[in-house]
Amino acid sequence: MWENWSGEQRCTPARVAEPDGIEAVVAEVETARAAGQTLRPAGSGHSFTGLVPTDGVLLSLGRMDRVLNVNRETRRVRVQAGIPLHRLNDELAAHGLALENLGDIDRQTIAGAIATGTHGTGAGYGNLPSLVEGLTLVTGTGDVLQCSREEDPELWRAARVSLGALGIVCEVELRCVEAFTLHGVDAPAPLETTVASIDELIAGAEHFEFYAFPHAGTALTRTNRRTAAPPVPRPAWKAWASDILLTNHVFRAACAVGKARPALIPQVNRALTRAVGHEERVDRSDRIFTSPRLVRFVEMEYAVPRAALPDVLARTRAWIEETGFAVNFPMEVRFGAGDDALLSPAFERDSAYLAVHVYRGMPWEPYFRAVEAICDEHAGRPHWGKLHFQTAETLPSRYPAWDRFAAVRERCDPDRVFANAHLDRILGA
Ligand SMILES: Cc1cc2nc3c(=O)[nH]c(=O)nc-3n(C[C@H](O)[C@H](O)[C@H](O)COP(=O)(O)OP(=O)(O)OC[C@H]3O[C@@H](n4cnc5c(N)ncnc54)[C@H](O)[C@@H]3O)c2cc1C
Repeated sequence: MWENWSGEQRCTPARVAEPDGIEAVVAEVETARAAGQTLRPAGSGHSFTGLVPTDGVLLSLGRMDRVLNVNRETRRVRVQAGIPLHRLNDELAAHGLALENLGDIDRQTIAGAIATGTHGTGAGYGNLPSLVEGLTLVTGTGDVLQCSREEDPELWRAARVSLGALGIVCEVELRCVEAFTLHGVDAPAPLETTVASIDELIAGAEHFEFYAFPHAGTALTRTNRRTAAPPVPRPAWKAWASDILLTNHVFRAACAVGKARPALIPQVNRALTRAVGHEERVDRSDRIFTSPRLVRFVEMEYAVPRAALPDVLARTRAWIEETGFAVNFPMEVRFGAGDDALLSPAFERDSAYLAVHVYRGMPWEPYFRAVEAICDEHAGRPHWGKLHFQTAETLPSRYPAWDRFAAVRERCDPDRVFANAHLDRILGA
């Protein structure tokens, strides 16, 4: 049985395939197709939505996880698509390279991360798919296609954020940068002034984001700036105390209190925000961007036009206050530049991202539906890997290139070899 990270998505596939190369992937697609079976590619299972579950063939690229080529001159790196980000980051660092931006964790595969539009924060930085210069994919007809800005550019624009609906991405060519060090500062600040001065804050650092606990007036800001200073890695005990003990175990205990006694949540949230102090670190970029997430939760995230953020945040907080709904996880607010991948949540739009989370095992649907309704009013676009309630009827008007993606899907997978129930719901059968 396959299960995703949050434990909410499960399936028992007819077969699990682990091909070791492109020819073996082609053979898997042709075998499934000949047998009238569907096939779903799986990465590390870190998506909250039903993108992966299948009763057909579950295909993992766990054996296709190598760096294939590093060009130091152009800083282009070609990798097999099953490589997890943490291994990729280490291998890039060994060559004096890095990805210019990353999300909160590094457990995803590169193919899985790009397929849903995974992003970090930084108003001047695009999401991970925007770092993809070229792809090799095996389509539903068993063809092996190459695409890039120059070669089949329409496929390249579609296949970077593909939801695994166009084919099996086997190789990815990434635009990297020289390895760099970040000076990270985590600090509490009044929420109201943070929101009021958001333009200056996001202009004042390469990477700015903040967390806001419901019922607390304090934002926990995270500001990461590039620095010429050398990395100062933390001793193992200090990293453990901060990343594991405080961020995970203490937080998990607070979540458990809130789950058992929801009436205490406002007090617990205020106590947590008061307990957070000022912390500074200087380290290798990926070690500042990412950290372990051991407390399990479910999540929804919306990309909205940047100017809509104050309204979306204020109304979300007001809804929680008015309904008294038990929310003991903070909201996370990030920023990103627009891009040109057809189904990217940031397609041709500089975006603010609002992520809402609920501790695993607690009710989430009324909260997520309420936030979604607020984001709907701002033409919000859901993160494809995180929970949402949109359908093939409600989505197209938010994506100017929806029909272009549909045309590429028709070309790559006319017989819907890569279908499952979730894709039927959001893209149509
Ligand atoms: C704790 C946690 C933290 C997170 N933090 C962030 C964050 O900071 N920013 C953010 O944007 N998101 C974040 N996410 C969401 C996560 O990055 C995405 O859901 C991502 O898609 C997961 O990648 P994966 O490798 O686990 O792929 P999976 O979840 O297994 O699959 C994702 C999609 O990729 C497709 N796919 C996988 N492999 C291939 C392939 N070879 N070819 C074609 N399609 C393929 C699958 O079919 C599916 O549609 C987080 C999730 C968790 C659980």
